[in-house]
Amino acid sequence: MNAIALHARPSDGFESKVAHAAAVLASAAAEHVTRIVQATSLGAEDMVLTDLIARAQLPIAIGTLDTGMLHAETLALLARIESHYGLQVQVMRPAQEAVLHFVTRNGERAMFESIDLRKACCAMRKLEPLGRLLEDKTAWVTGLRREQSDHRAEVPFSEREANGRLKLNPLADWTWGDVWHYIAVNNVPYNALHDQFYPSIGCAPCTRAIALGEDFRAGRWWWEDEAAKECGLHVQQVEGVAA
Ligand code: SF4
Repeated sequence: MNAIALHARPSDGFESKVAHAAAVLASAAAEHVTRIVQATSLGAEDMVLTDLIARAQLPIAIGTLDTGMLHAETLALLARIESHYGLQVQVMRPAQEAVLHFVTRNGERAMFESIDLRKACCAMRKLEPLGRLLEDKTAWVTGLRREQSDHRAEVPFSEREANGRLKLNPLADWTWGDVWHYIAVNNVPYNALHDQFYPSIGCAPCTRAIALGEDFRAGRWWWEDEAAKECGLHVQQVEGVAA
């Protein structure tokens, strides 16, 4: 059974949620002309956002982080986005010298040795390239949803970060069933790993499939305590709201 058959169940108000997400994106695109980017993880939520952006032909750039540790199935989506939508994805990579230094010093499996080393790896492979992706942007778009984890239960539709940049989470109120219903009815390309019980997909060494009944993000950094389980992309302090 594929992910669509398993999950596609719209919640009450699905059509209004789609209209609201589209309106959030359109308004932000108009306000932040040429200075707005969707930072896509290439996961299901982000594919929905890319579809909404492409469908309305919004001038929102699409960017992603290739950490050098992604699954082949994830990387394959880059070409599919290009062929399906005619959109070019800007791919940001970590500084090769920093990666070489880190791996030489700490080994290929450093992330399993301590939370500090895991966070250092995320900082080098994700946070630093994200900083470059966002450096000339006044707004960015993410696929965060409140339902994804307890940490994300209060995610607002938009929040002003301490650095003044606007962070938009147009799918904040969507359920997992909404995401898959949208993908099904709009024929949105998605990561083949979602059909293999990977709801949340990150780097290959740090992501596993989940079992029936496990939490949405149970397959991410599964060897760590719940409290440590964010890579840092979404933990900055924002004005009035902790992301
Ligand atoms: S998710 Fe794992 S491999 Fe990817 S950057 Fe973080 S620690 Fe490194």
